[in-house]
Amino acid sequence: MNTTKSKEAYKKALELMPGGVNSPVRAFKSVGGDPIFIEKGKGSRVWDVDGNEYIDFVASWGPLILGHAREEIVEAITKTAAKGTSFGAPTLLENKMTELIISMVPSVEKVRMVNSGTEATMSALRLARGYTKRDKVIKFAGCFHGHADSFLIQAGSGAMTLGLPDSPGVTKAAAGDTLIASYNDLQSVEKLFTEYKDQIAAVIVEPVPGNMGVIPPKPGFLEGLRELTCTNGALLIFDEVITGFRLAPGGAQEYLGVTPDLTTMGKIIGGGLPVGAFGGKAEIMNHLAPEGPVYQAGTLSGNPLAMAAGSTMLGVLNDQPEIYKDIEAKAIYLEAGLRKNVEESGVSAVINRIGGMLTLFFNDAPEVWNHELSSGSDTDKYAAYFRKSLENGIWLAPSQFECTFVSAAHTMEEIEKVIELSGEALKEISA
Ligand code: PMP
Repeated sequence: MNTTKSKEAYKKALELMPGGVNSPVRAFKSVGGDPIFIEKGKGSRVWDVDGNEYIDFVASWGPLILGHAREEIVEAITKTAAKGTSFGAPTLLENKMTELIISMVPSVEKVRMVNSGTEATMSALRLARGYTKRDKVIKFAGCFHGHADSFLIQAGSGAMTLGLPDSPGVTKAAAGDTLIASYNDLQSVEKLFTEYKDQIAAVIVEPVPGNMGVIPPKPGFLEGLRELTCTNGALLIFDEVITGFRLAPGGAQEYLGVTPDLTTMGKIIGGGLPVGAFGGKAEIMNHLAPEGPVYQAGTLSGNPLAMAAGSTMLGVLNDQPEIYKDIEAKAIYLEAGLRKNVEESGVSAVINRIGGMLTLFFNDAPEVWNHELSSGSDTDKYAAYFRKSLENGIWLAPSQFECTFVSAAHTMEEIEKVIELSGEALKEISA
Protein backbone atom coordinates (compact mmCIF):
# COMPACT_ATOMS: atom_id res chain seq x y z
CA MET A 1 0.00 0.00 0.00
CA ASN A 2 1.47 3.34 -1.06
CA THR A 3 1.07 6.00 1.63
CA THR A 4 3.76 8.45 0.49
CA LYS A 5 1.50 11.50 0.51
CA SER A 6 0.10 10.70 3.95
CA LYS A 7 3.63 10.33 5.30
CA GLU A 8 4.67 13.69 3.83
CA ALA A 9 1.54 15.37 5.18
CA TYR A 10 2.15 13.93 8.66
CA LYS A 11 5.75 15.14 8.67
CA LYS A 12 4.51 18.66 7.92
CA ALA A 13 1.63 18.37 10.41
CA LEU A 14 4.08 17.47 13.19
CA GLU A 15 5.64 20.92 12.75
CA LEU A 16 2.24 22.60 12.92
CA MET A 17 0.15 20.78 15.53
CA PRO A 18 1.04 18.94 18.77
CA GLY A 19 1.51 15.35 17.69
CA GLY A 20 0.48 16.39 14.19
CA VAL A 21 -3.24 16.09 14.97
CA ASN A 22 -6.21 17.91 16.46
CA SER A 23 -7.40 14.95 18.55
CA PRO A 24 -4.96 12.41 20.04
CA VAL A 25 -6.28 9.00 18.85
CA ARG A 26 -5.95 10.13 15.23
CA ALA A 27 -2.15 9.90 15.53
CA PHE A 28 -2.23 6.05 15.52
CA LYS A 29 0.01 5.99 18.63
CA SER A 30 -1.41 2.78 20.02
CA VAL A 31 -1.43 0.90 16.71
CA GLY A 32 1.90 2.11 15.32
CA GLY A 33 2.76 3.57 11.93
CA ASP A 34 1.92 7.01 10.61
CA PRO A 35 -1.67 8.21 10.41
CA ILE A 36 -3.48 8.18 7.09
CA PHE A 37 -4.74 11.52 5.74
CA ILE A 38 -8.25 11.38 4.31
CA GLU A 39 -9.17 13.10 1.07
CA LYS A 40 -12.89 12.33 0.78
CA GLY A 41 -15.73 10.01 1.70
CA LYS A 42 -18.91 8.76 0.04
CA GLY A 43 -21.41 6.31 1.52
CA SER A 44 -19.53 3.54 3.34
CA ARG A 45 -16.16 4.41 1.77
CA VAL A 46 -13.29 6.81 2.41
CA TRP A 47 -10.29 7.56 0.20
CA ASP A 48 -6.91 8.74 1.45
CA VAL A 49 -4.66 11.35 -0.14
CA ASP A 50 -2.69 8.59 -1.94
CA GLY A 51 -5.87 7.26 -3.55
CA ASN A 52 -6.26 4.15 -1.35
CA GLU A 53 -9.89 3.18 -0.76
CA TYR A 54 -11.28 1.85 2.53
CA ILE A 55 -14.58 0.46 3.83
CA ASP A 56 -15.12 2.75 6.80
CA PHE A 57 -16.22 1.38 10.19
CA VAL A 58 -15.18 4.45 12.18
CA ALA A 59 -17.80 6.77 10.65
CA SER A 60 -16.03 9.84 12.06
CA TRP A 61 -16.16 8.10 15.47
CA GLY A 62 -19.89 7.60 15.23
CA PRO A 63 -21.71 10.55 13.64
CA LEU A 64 -22.11 9.14 10.15
CA ILE A 65 -24.81 6.54 10.68
CA LEU A 66 -26.07 7.24 7.13
CA GLY A 67 -22.60 7.16 5.59
CA HIS A 68 -20.46 9.94 4.13
CA ALA A 69 -21.75 12.86 2.08
CA ARG A 70 -25.38 11.74 2.15
CA GLU A 71 -27.12 13.82 -0.52
CA GLU A 72 -29.94 15.30 1.61
CA ILE A 73 -27.45 16.44 4.22
CA VAL A 74 -25.00 17.98 1.76
CA GLU A 75 -27.88 19.78 0.09
CA ALA A 76 -29.24 21.09 3.40
CA ILE A 77 -25.81 22.44 4.37
CA THR A 78 -25.19 24.06 0.97
CA LYS A 79 -28.60 25.71 0.77
CA THR A 80 -28.34 27.04 4.32
CA ALA A 81 -24.75 28.32 3.85
CA ALA A 82 -25.88 30.43 0.91
CA LYS A 83 -28.15 32.35 3.30
CA GLY A 84 -25.44 33.07 5.87
CA THR A 85 -23.44 30.91 8.26
CA SER A 86 -24.06 32.43 11.70
CA PHE A 87 -26.21 35.14 13.26
CA GLY A 88 -25.98 34.78 17.02
CA ALA A 89 -29.74 35.30 17.07
CA PRO A 90 -32.63 32.81 17.16
CA THR A 91 -33.52 31.02 13.91
CA LEU A 92 -36.39 28.77 12.85
CA LEU A 93 -33.88 25.97 12.26
CA GLU A 94 -33.27 25.78 16.01
CA ASN A 95 -36.99 25.27 16.65
CA LYS A 96 -37.07 22.54 13.99
CA MET A 97 -34.06 20.76 15.45
CA THR A 98 -35.10 20.91 19.11
CA GLU A 99 -38.66 19.87 18.30
CA LEU A 100 -37.29 16.77 16.56
CA ILE A 101 -35.02 15.88 19.48
CA ILE A 102 -37.86 16.27 21.98
CA SER A 103 -40.15 14.11 19.88
CA MET A 104 -37.51 11.39 19.45
CA VAL A 105 -35.80 11.11 22.86
CA PRO A 106 -38.22 9.80 25.52
CA SER A 107 -36.94 11.72 28.59
CA VAL A 108 -36.29 15.06 26.89
CA GLU A 109 -38.82 17.86 27.38
CA LYS A 110 -36.47 20.80 26.79
CA VAL A 111 -33.08 21.04 25.05
CA ARG A 112 -30.06 23.32 24.90
CA MET A 113 -27.89 23.06 21.78
CA VAL A 114 -24.10 23.27 22.16
CA ASN A 115 -21.12 22.63 19.89
CA SER A 116 -19.64 19.31 21.03
CA GLY A 117 -20.21 16.33 23.27
CA THR A 118 -17.69 17.76 25.72
CA GLU A 119 -19.72 20.94 26.08
CA ALA A 120 -22.88 18.90 26.53
CA THR A 121 -21.56 16.81 29.43
CA MET A 122 -19.73 19.72 31.05
CA SER A 123 -22.90 21.86 30.97
CA ALA A 124 -25.19 19.03 32.08
CA LEU A 125 -22.99 18.47 35.11
CA ARG A 126 -23.04 22.17 36.01
CA LEU A 127 -26.82 22.12 35.70
CA ALA A 128 -27.07 19.01 37.89
CA ARG A 129 -24.87 20.67 40.51
CA GLY A 130 -26.81 23.92 40.35
CA TYR A 131 -30.13 22.12 40.54
CA THR A 132 -29.28 19.79 43.46
CA LYS A 133 -26.94 22.27 45.21
CA ARG A 134 -24.45 19.43 45.62
CA ASP A 135 -20.88 19.15 44.29
CA LYS A 136 -19.91 15.54 43.76
CA VAL A 137 -20.47 13.35 40.72
CA ILE A 138 -20.15 9.61 40.25
CA LYS A 139 -18.64 8.42 36.99
CA PHE A 140 -17.58 4.95 35.95
CA ALA A 141 -14.03 3.80 35.31
CA GLY A 142 -13.50 3.55 31.55
CA CYS A 143 -16.45 5.76 30.61
CA PHE A 144 -15.44 8.81 28.60
CA HIS A 145 -17.47 11.99 28.72
CA GLY A 146 -15.27 14.37 26.75
CA HIS A 147 -12.31 16.32 28.05
CA ALA A 148 -13.73 18.65 30.71
CA ASP A 149 -11.72 18.50 33.96
CA SER A 150 -14.37 16.69 36.01
CA PHE A 151 -14.40 13.77 33.61
CA LEU A 152 -10.70 13.22 32.90
CA ILE A 153 -10.41 10.82 35.78
CA GLN A 154 -10.12 7.14 34.94
CA ALA A 155 -11.52 8.03 31.53
CA GLY A 156 -11.82 5.76 28.50
CA SER A 157 -11.22 6.43 24.80
CA GLY A 158 -8.00 8.33 23.97
CA ALA A 159 -7.15 8.72 27.67
CA MET A 160 -7.26 4.92 28.02
CA THR A 161 -5.48 4.33 24.74
CA LEU A 162 -2.63 6.66 25.62
CA GLY A 163 -2.40 5.67 29.27
CA LEU A 164 -3.18 9.19 30.49
CA PRO A 165 -6.15 8.57 32.76
CA ASP A 166 -5.33 11.52 35.00
CA SER A 167 -4.21 14.43 32.89
CA PRO A 168 -1.80 17.02 34.24
CA GLY A 169 -3.72 20.27 34.51
CA VAL A 170 -6.74 18.70 36.18
CA THR A 171 -6.66 20.14 39.71
CA LYS A 172 -6.90 18.02 42.85
CA ALA A 173 -10.06 19.94 43.73
CA ALA A 174 -11.72 19.00 40.45
CA ALA A 175 -10.60 15.38 40.72
CA GLY A 176 -11.77 15.22 44.35
CA ASP A 177 -15.35 15.94 43.37
CA THR A 178 -15.41 13.05 40.90
CA LEU A 179 -16.08 9.68 42.51
CA ILE A 180 -15.30 6.54 40.54
CA ALA A 181 -17.51 3.46 40.49
CA SER A 182 -17.22 0.26 38.49
CA TYR A 183 -19.54 -0.23 35.50
CA ASN A 184 -22.03 -3.09 35.87
CA ASP A 185 -21.39 -3.11 39.64
CA LEU A 186 -24.28 -1.53 41.57
CA GLN A 187 -22.64 -2.17 44.92
CA SER A 188 -19.76 0.14 44.02
CA VAL A 189 -22.32 2.90 43.44
CA GLU A 190 -24.29 2.15 46.59
CA LYS A 191 -21.10 2.34 48.64
CA LEU A 192 -20.34 5.83 47.33
CA PHE A 193 -23.87 7.02 48.07
CA THR A 194 -23.48 5.79 51.67
CA GLU A 195 -20.03 7.29 52.10
CA TYR A 196 -20.93 10.67 50.55
CA LYS A 197 -24.49 10.96 51.81
CA ASP A 198 -26.36 14.03 50.50
CA GLN A 199 -23.25 15.25 48.61
CA ILE A 200 -23.76 13.59 45.22
CA ALA A 201 -25.36 15.75 42.53
CA ALA A 202 -25.45 13.15 39.77
CA VAL A 203 -24.43 9.80 38.40
CA ILE A 204 -23.23 10.12 34.82
CA VAL A 205 -22.96 7.01 32.68
CA GLU A 206 -22.65 5.93 29.07
CA PRO A 207 -25.71 3.66 29.20
CA VAL A 208 -23.79 1.35 26.88
CA PRO A 209 -20.12 2.29 27.13
CA GLY A 210 -18.32 2.56 23.81
CA ASN A 211 -15.13 4.14 25.10
CA MET A 212 -13.62 1.06 26.73
CA GLY A 213 -14.81 -0.91 23.75
CA VAL A 214 -18.51 -1.84 23.65
CA ILE A 215 -19.80 -3.08 27.01
CA PRO A 216 -23.51 -3.89 27.26
CA PRO A 217 -25.16 -3.32 30.63
CA LYS A 218 -25.99 -6.39 32.71
CA PRO A 219 -29.74 -6.88 33.26
CA GLY A 220 -30.89 -4.61 36.07
CA PHE A 221 -27.77 -2.39 36.16
CA LEU A 222 -29.26 0.74 34.59
CA GLU A 223 -32.56 0.15 36.41
CA GLY A 224 -30.54 -0.05 39.65
CA LEU A 225 -28.84 3.28 38.88
CA ARG A 226 -32.27 4.81 38.29
CA GLU A 227 -33.45 3.57 41.67
CA LEU A 228 -30.30 4.57 43.59
CA THR A 229 -30.29 8.10 42.17
CA CYS A 230 -33.99 8.54 42.97
CA THR A 231 -33.60 7.33 46.55
CA ASN A 232 -30.59 9.53 47.15
CA GLY A 233 -31.88 12.75 45.56
CA ALA A 234 -29.26 12.71 42.78
CA LEU A 235 -29.84 13.11 39.04
CA LEU A 236 -29.18 10.32 36.56
CA ILE A 237 -27.38 11.59 33.45
CA PHE A 238 -27.19 9.33 30.42
CA ASP A 239 -24.31 10.33 28.19
CA GLU A 240 -25.79 9.30 24.87
CA VAL A 241 -23.18 11.02 22.72
CA ILE A 242 -22.48 7.63 21.12
CA THR A 243 -25.71 5.70 21.74
CA GLY A 244 -28.10 8.58 20.99
CA PHE A 245 -29.95 8.07 17.68
CA ARG A 246 -27.71 5.01 17.16
CA LEU A 247 -29.31 2.17 19.09
CA ALA A 248 -32.80 3.47 18.30
CA PRO A 249 -34.33 6.81 17.23
CA GLY A 250 -34.59 7.56 20.98
CA GLY A 251 -31.15 6.16 21.85
CA ALA A 252 -30.25 3.69 24.59
CA GLN A 253 -33.06 4.96 26.83
CA GLU A 254 -35.57 3.82 24.24
CA TYR A 255 -33.66 0.63 23.36
CA LEU A 256 -33.23 -0.40 27.00
CA GLY A 257 -36.29 1.21 28.54
CA VAL A 258 -34.64 3.22 31.34
CA THR A 259 -35.37 6.94 31.67
CA PRO A 260 -32.68 9.37 32.89
CA ASP A 261 -33.21 12.91 34.24
CA LEU A 262 -30.75 14.48 31.81
CA THR A 263 -29.35 13.25 28.50
CA THR A 264 -26.24 14.45 26.70
CA MET A 265 -26.03 14.09 22.94
CA GLY A 266 -23.47 14.65 20.18
CA LYS A 267 -22.05 12.96 17.10
CA ILE A 268 -25.11 11.79 15.05
CA ILE A 269 -27.08 14.83 16.20
CA GLY A 270 -24.87 17.04 14.03
CA GLY A 271 -24.88 14.92 10.89
CA GLY A 272 -21.08 15.33 10.83
CA LEU A 273 -20.99 18.99 11.85
CA PRO A 274 -19.71 20.10 15.28
CA VAL A 275 -22.82 19.82 17.46
CA GLY A 276 -23.86 18.64 20.89
CA ALA A 277 -26.97 19.03 23.01
CA PHE A 278 -28.28 18.27 26.44
CA GLY A 279 -31.84 17.99 27.56
CA GLY A 280 -34.23 16.56 30.09
CA LYS A 281 -37.17 17.36 32.28
CA ALA A 282 -38.40 20.94 31.77
CA GLU A 283 -38.39 21.50 35.51
CA ILE A 284 -34.62 20.85 35.61
CA MET A 285 -33.74 22.50 32.28
CA ASN A 286 -35.53 25.69 33.37
CA HIS A 287 -32.73 26.25 35.88
CA LEU A 288 -30.53 27.29 32.93
CA ALA A 289 -29.93 30.97 32.09
CA PRO A 290 -31.76 33.09 31.09
CA GLU A 291 -34.72 31.34 32.73
CA GLY A 292 -32.73 30.22 35.77
CA PRO A 293 -29.45 30.94 37.53
CA VAL A 294 -27.15 28.24 36.04
CA TYR A 295 -25.04 29.96 33.39
CA GLN A 296 -24.38 28.38 30.00
CA ALA A 297 -23.88 30.10 26.64
CA GLY A 298 -22.29 29.83 23.17
CA THR A 299 -21.69 32.17 20.22
CA LEU A 300 -22.10 29.37 17.69
CA SER A 301 -24.66 27.29 19.63
CA GLY A 302 -27.60 26.44 17.39
CA ASN A 303 -25.51 27.36 14.36
CA PRO A 304 -27.62 27.31 11.17
CA LEU A 305 -25.35 24.92 9.22
CA ALA A 306 -25.21 22.50 12.12
CA MET A 307 -28.97 22.71 12.66
CA ALA A 308 -29.62 22.14 8.95
CA ALA A 309 -27.34 19.09 8.81
CA GLY A 310 -28.54 17.72 12.15
CA SER A 311 -32.25 18.17 11.56
CA THR A 312 -31.95 16.56 8.13
CA MET A 313 -30.10 13.61 9.64
CA LEU A 314 -32.60 13.20 12.49
CA GLY A 315 -35.49 13.66 10.04
CA VAL A 316 -34.29 10.70 7.97
CA LEU A 317 -33.83 8.53 11.08
CA ASN A 318 -37.22 9.55 12.46
CA ASP A 319 -39.05 8.91 9.18
CA GLN A 320 -37.30 5.62 8.42
CA PRO A 321 -36.98 3.64 11.65
CA GLU A 322 -36.47 0.49 9.55
CA ILE A 323 -32.89 1.77 9.13
CA TYR A 324 -32.20 0.51 12.66
CA LYS A 325 -33.39 -3.01 11.87
CA ASP A 326 -31.22 -3.02 8.75
CA ILE A 327 -28.14 -1.84 10.64
CA GLU A 328 -28.66 -4.36 13.42
CA ALA A 329 -29.17 -7.22 10.96
CA LYS A 330 -25.86 -6.38 9.27
CA ALA A 331 -24.11 -6.08 12.63
CA ILE A 332 -25.51 -9.46 13.76
CA TYR A 333 -24.21 -11.02 10.54
CA LEU A 334 -20.81 -9.38 11.06
CA GLU A 335 -20.69 -10.58 14.67
CA ALA A 336 -21.51 -14.16 13.65
CA GLY A 337 -18.83 -14.12 10.95
CA LEU A 338 -16.23 -12.72 13.32
CA ARG A 339 -17.10 -15.32 15.98
CA LYS A 340 -16.57 -18.10 13.45
CA ASN A 341 -13.26 -16.54 12.42
CA VAL A 342 -12.13 -16.25 16.04
CA GLU A 343 -12.97 -19.90 16.64
CA GLU A 344 -11.20 -21.10 13.50
CA SER A 345 -8.10 -19.01 14.12
CA GLY A 346 -7.78 -20.10 17.74
CA VAL A 347 -7.07 -16.52 18.83
CA SER A 348 -8.35 -15.55 22.32
CA ALA A 349 -11.03 -12.95 21.81
CA VAL A 350 -14.34 -11.67 23.14
CA ILE A 351 -16.88 -9.99 20.89
CA ASN A 352 -19.40 -7.58 22.42
CA ARG A 353 -22.20 -6.17 20.31
CA ILE A 354 -25.35 -4.20 20.83
CA GLY A 355 -27.35 -2.78 17.90
CA GLY A 356 -24.87 -1.58 15.29
CA MET A 357 -21.96 -1.15 17.75
CA LEU A 358 -19.38 -3.87 18.12
CA THR A 359 -15.93 -4.50 19.61
CA LEU A 360 -13.63 -7.45 19.12
CA PHE A 361 -11.44 -7.56 22.25
CA PHE A 362 -8.20 -9.53 22.01
CA ASN A 363 -8.68 -10.86 25.50
CA ASP A 364 -8.18 -14.11 27.43
CA ALA A 365 -11.15 -13.52 29.75
CA PRO A 366 -14.39 -15.40 29.03
CA GLU A 367 -16.37 -12.12 29.11
CA VAL A 368 -15.63 -8.39 29.11
CA TRP A 369 -18.12 -6.37 31.14
CA ASN A 370 -16.11 -3.66 32.90
CA HIS A 371 -13.03 -1.46 32.62
CA GLU A 372 -10.73 -3.87 34.45
CA LEU A 373 -11.54 -6.70 32.07
CA SER A 374 -11.39 -4.45 29.03
CA SER A 375 -7.96 -3.13 30.10
CA GLY A 376 -6.67 -6.70 30.07
CA SER A 377 -6.97 -6.78 26.28
CA ASP A 378 -3.87 -7.47 24.19
CA THR A 379 -3.30 -4.12 22.48
CA ASP A 380 -0.32 -5.47 20.48
CA LYS A 381 -2.57 -8.07 18.89
CA TYR A 382 -5.18 -5.39 18.17
CA ALA A 383 -2.47 -3.23 16.56
CA ALA A 384 -1.47 -6.14 14.28
CA TYR A 385 -5.13 -6.74 13.39
CA PHE A 386 -5.69 -3.05 12.73
CA ARG A 387 -2.66 -2.76 10.42
CA LYS A 388 -3.61 -5.89 8.52
CA SER A 389 -7.18 -4.58 8.12
CA LEU A 390 -5.91 -1.25 6.87
CA GLU A 391 -3.79 -2.99 4.24
CA ASN A 392 -6.93 -4.95 3.29
CA GLY A 393 -8.85 -1.70 2.77
CA ILE A 394 -10.82 -1.82 6.02
CA TRP A 395 -10.80 1.32 8.17
CA LEU A 396 -11.14 0.31 11.83
CA ALA A 397 -10.68 2.51 14.89
CA PRO A 398 -6.96 2.95 15.62
CA SER A 399 -7.49 1.71 19.18
CA GLN A 400 -8.72 -1.43 20.90
CA PHE A 401 -10.94 0.64 23.19
CA GLU A 402 -13.43 1.98 20.65
CA CYS A 403 -16.37 0.75 18.58
CA THR A 404 -16.81 -0.71 15.13
CA PHE A 405 -19.81 1.17 13.77
CA VAL A 406 -22.05 -0.47 11.17
CA SER A 407 -23.93 2.16 9.18
CA ALA A 408 -26.94 2.28 6.88
CA ALA A 409 -24.50 2.75 3.99
CA HIS A 410 -22.72 -0.61 4.41
CA THR A 411 -23.85 -3.34 2.04
CA MET A 412 -24.06 -7.05 2.83
CA GLU A 413 -21.38 -7.63 0.17
CA GLU A 414 -19.06 -5.35 2.10
CA ILE A 415 -19.82 -7.10 5.38
CA GLU A 416 -19.11 -10.46 3.76
CA LYS A 417 -15.85 -9.17 2.34
CA VAL A 418 -14.83 -7.87 5.74
CA ILE A 419 -15.62 -11.23 7.37
CA GLU A 420 -13.51 -13.04 4.78
CA LEU A 421 -10.54 -10.69 5.13
CA SER A 422 -10.73 -10.60 8.92
CA GLY A 423 -10.62 -14.40 8.94
CA GLU A 424 -7.32 -14.30 7.08
CA ALA A 425 -5.98 -11.53 9.35
CA LEU A 426 -6.89 -13.42 12.53
CA LYS A 427 -5.24 -16.59 11.27
CA GLU A 428 -2.05 -14.64 10.53
CA ILE A 429 -2.07 -13.04 13.97
CA SER A 430 -2.55 -16.34 15.79
CA ALA A 431 0.13 -18.11 13.72
N1 PMP B 1 -19.29 11.48 25.60
C1 PMP B 1 -19.06 10.34 24.94
C2 PMP B 1 -19.78 9.10 25.37
C3 PMP B 1 -18.16 10.31 23.87
O1 PMP B 1 -17.93 9.16 23.23
C4 PMP B 1 -17.52 11.52 23.48
C5 PMP B 1 -16.56 11.56 22.32
N2 PMP B 1 -16.05 10.41 21.87
C6 PMP B 1 -17.80 12.67 24.20
C7 PMP B 1 -18.70 12.63 25.24
C8 PMP B 1 -17.17 13.98 23.81
O2 PMP B 1 -17.69 14.43 22.61
P1 PMP B 1 -16.87 15.45 21.69
O3 PMP B 1 -15.72 14.70 21.14
O4 PMP B 1 -17.85 15.87 20.65
O5 PMP B 1 -16.46 16.58 22.58
